[in-house]
Amino acid sequence: MSARESHKAAGYLLKSLSYGESDLIVTFYTREFGKLKGIAKGAKRSKKRFANVFEPFSLVELNFSRKNRDGLAFIESCDIIDHYTLIRQDLEKTLAASYFIELADHFSREEKSNENLFMLLHDFLDWLSRENVSDAAVRFFEMRLLKVTGFEPALAACVHCKAPVTNGVSYYFLPKEGGIFCAACARPERYDQTVSAGSVRTLLLGKEMDIEKMKMISMPERLACECRTILCGFISHVLGKEVKSLKVMEQVRRYCI
Ligand SMILES: [Zn+2]
Repeated sequence: MSARESHKAAGYLLKSLSYGESDLIVTFYTREFGKLKGIAKGAKRSKKRFANVFEPFSLVELNFSRKNRDGLAFIESCDIIDHYTLIRQDLEKTLAASYFIELADHFSREEKSNENLFMLLHDFLDWLSRENVSDAAVRFFEMRLLKVTGFEPALAACVHCKAPVTNGVSYYFLPKEGGIFCAACARPERYDQTVSAGSVRTLLLGKEMDIEKMKMISMPERLACECRTILCGFISHVLGKEVKSLKVMEQVRRYCI
């Protein structure tokens, strides 16, 4: 039998599940090991040893051991790096952070490290601590998540004829093709909705722009609606299901605005 190896990692809590009377099965997104699943023995009893660490989107430093790469990690100890108190004091921010975390969970696989995905969570949670939730922030997170996980939609030009996006022209976004089509190439059905070049350009801008400038972007209703149609439609197509926390966040935001 091989001996257990000990490791250290920084990670965001993606989810936790009660296991037996006193244990928790916890899943983190770590910088060093990607998605990591482990068991925290006695976590439900030992509030002192694991204070606040197993709450969604907490950033922690964890010490764990395991026998091999595929094995379940034994969480030895956890220390809080950031509990994101300023996010937790605000319902809208908490729901946005929960949505980001759920997406990171759906779009990552165990044991495949992706520092860009870790840094995306880090940058957006840090930003959410300081700024208010906006349509732009949510859409730009989705856009960047798709990019760093290899699912970036093709928005710069018509997927078929390659004609670049031109102002004043309307496009069709086809989730199963992963990109936009011009009217000539799309052969739209009556029920297909167009998206404006403005919406497409805003998403392209959001993919690259300095995160500190994001608060200056305000999306008019039509543009916000089109950007949502493109990205949420594409995300649910890729995942083959709806993302639960998106609906909750949107229902609450509708009441708050
Ligand atoms: Zn075309």
